[in-house]
Amino acid sequence: RFVTFEGGEGVGKSTQLRRLAERLQAAGVAVTVTREPGGSPRAEQLRAFLLSGKAKRYGTFAETALIAAGRADHVDRLIRPALKRGDWVLCDRFIDSTRCYQGVLGEVPDRLIAGLERLAARDVMPDLTLILDAPASVGLARARRRAGLDAAADRFESEDESFHQRLREAFIDIARHEPERCLLIDALGEADAVAARIWDGVVRR
Ligand code: C5P
Repeated sequence: RFVTFEGGEGVGKSTQLRRLAERLQAAGVAVTVTREPGGSPRAEQLRAFLLSGKAKRYGTFAETALIAAGRADHVDRLIRPALKRGDWVLCDRFIDSTRCYQGVLGEVPDRLIAGLERLAARDVMPDLTLILDAPASVGLARARRRAGLDAAADRFESEDESFHQRLREAFIDIARHEPERCLLIDALGEADAVAARIWDGVVRR
């Protein structure tokens, strides 16, 4: 099973992914945990470049192409082999982040996003995508905190509340259009409560 976690900034994806991994492992399931951008050694090198803000200087098309290049390596070297072994693979961000950040917000045309998605992911599509949803103010607070901590994170400086609002809507839109694959999860409240919502969703599916 291939499960992806998606959503805006600061919605608690990483915490919730870890919680689900622990619960599955406790139930005797072999789990591989990974993330994007990155996930394989080569793709992690691209991630460092992407998150440094330097990739932005080349424009959104280059950013999208680098993400796709990383994804192809990640899928081939880590995700597909793990699925073949019978592991559950839990991935922090995948195709939907690219659709939202580069596609909707970065205005990269849908056809290009879709074409690169097919090239990079090929047969490896998520069985289940958990879209964690929280108000835009949550993302804005997190982005400000991060920008304060990391002066190199210059991409965050231009991100205002409307950015996070549009990001949220883009993710909700995907959940609405692909209800067989996606589950929209209310990410507000205690981590325990969110983890319980996620577990219910996974069990139901
Ligand atoms: O921890 P998190 O997954 O939120 O960090 C990854 C960061 O990379 C995000 O904050 C997001 O701004 C950025 N990103 C992006 N485009 C993607 C995936 C991630 O800009 N396709």
